[in-house]
Amino acid sequence: MISFENTLDFAKKMDNQDPLKEYRNRFHFPDFHEKTIRYFTGNSLGLQPKSTKQYIQEELDDWAKYGVEGHFMSRRPWYSYHENLSKYTAEIVGAKPSEVVVTHSLTTNLHLLMVSFYQPQGKRTKIICEEKAFPSDQYALESQIKHHHLPKEALVEVGPREGEHLIREEDILNKISEVGDELALVMIGGVNYYTGQLFDMKKIASAGHDVGAIVGFDLAHAAGNINLNLHEWGVDFAAWCGYKYLNSSPGGVSGIFVHQRHEDKPDLNRFAGWWGHDKESRFLMEPGFKPMIGAEGWQLSNAPVLGMAAHLASLEIFHEAGMENIGRKRDILTAFLEFIIEDISERNKDKCEFEIITPKSIENRGAQLSVLAHGKGKKMFDKLTEQGVIADWREPNVIRIAPAPLYNSFEDCWYFGEILEKALD
Ligand SMILES: *Cc1c(COP(=O)(O)O)cnc(C)c1O
Repeated sequence: MISFENTLDFAKKMDNQDPLKEYRNRFHFPDFHEKTIRYFTGNSLGLQPKSTKQYIQEELDDWAKYGVEGHFMSRRPWYSYHENLSKYTAEIVGAKPSEVVVTHSLTTNLHLLMVSFYQPQGKRTKIICEEKAFPSDQYALESQIKHHHLPKEALVEVGPREGEHLIREEDILNKISEVGDELALVMIGGVNYYTGQLFDMKKIASAGHDVGAIVGFDLAHAAGNINLNLHEWGVDFAAWCGYKYLNSSPGGVSGIFVHQRHEDKPDLNRFAGWWGHDKESRFLMEPGFKPMIGAEGWQLSNAPVLGMAAHLASLEIFHEAGMENIGRKRDILTAFLEFIIEDISERNKDKCEFEIITPKSIENRGAQLSVLAHGKGKKMFDKLTEQGVIADWREPNVIRIAPAPLYNSFEDCWYFGEILEKALD
């Protein structure tokens, strides 16, 4: 365990020793502000890699040069463009390349996957999710239940106990066994977007399977952040967006995971489209849907190449840096930021108290800290913004900050603390 110091010198020393320090230069930092921007919202929209422009430009050039022939003649033929992304995506989520595909957007994918994996039957109709799930997920789950003409009680939420901020894992596991043979699906955010709590997906998957349910995860806040091992953990399906930790442009493409055990089930219910159809016979344009084996069978449309190009640029950076290294830096950087916030809180008890509601243990968190600012309101947060800090504010008084290991530095964290302490006055 490193013993941290809340000084700029110490932060600089840490940056010097950081094996990933050069990666910061591969990203554009916003510069719209008179102050140096301290960017802590990689959990909301990742920064733009400097290589993104070139990747998109190449596709624009090929489109100009080849027109429709670019589907086969461009340097990365558009016809099979998504295939360029599968290997790197598989590395990020711990899957076999055939278990993943990049396609559509996140909420769309959650629906498409639930069409296949939420199949209520007899008394097995219920879905377990976390209380106060991300709104889009709540709407998706509620509408899936409605789609099957089931009452809204089919949605069973597990929340924190009275007076607590986090959901106890045992409460999720107990709820799974309690709902038992009425449970059709467990659908939880792998990392909670609000508290930054990371759940033990392996345990949850195996508890769900023990009672005969399907287990899926929304990995919006986990992909590119957490070291995932979806195949080993036995998760049935998952989806995530490309634009948060994965830096793949606003509203950028999403990824899905479907476990190998479901790869060849042509009878599994699904909403089909031509890009999910067997690629050998796709252009025969014959009636009768024959799904691709693996995750590709859930594609509907041909790939949106410009968005995919942005994603490819970022995935190559992840591949090069390696999720192991990224994870190591994530834990130290987050711990340093935590140390700084606690140090400030300790020395300024008369002004304000900060309570970090994100778990302390690295087993239960990634790069995000959610901080309750007792005794302070939006005014303090506005002062941070004035000084160039970009973080996320949630009413009544929660600040979410995410030091992204690919481009945030220890110096960023130190400056965050310095600005925070001044904003207390
Ligand atoms: C960011 C996020 C979304 C966003 O969904 P889109 O379809 O990409 O707009 C959905 N769910 C969770 C948990 C998220 O964090």
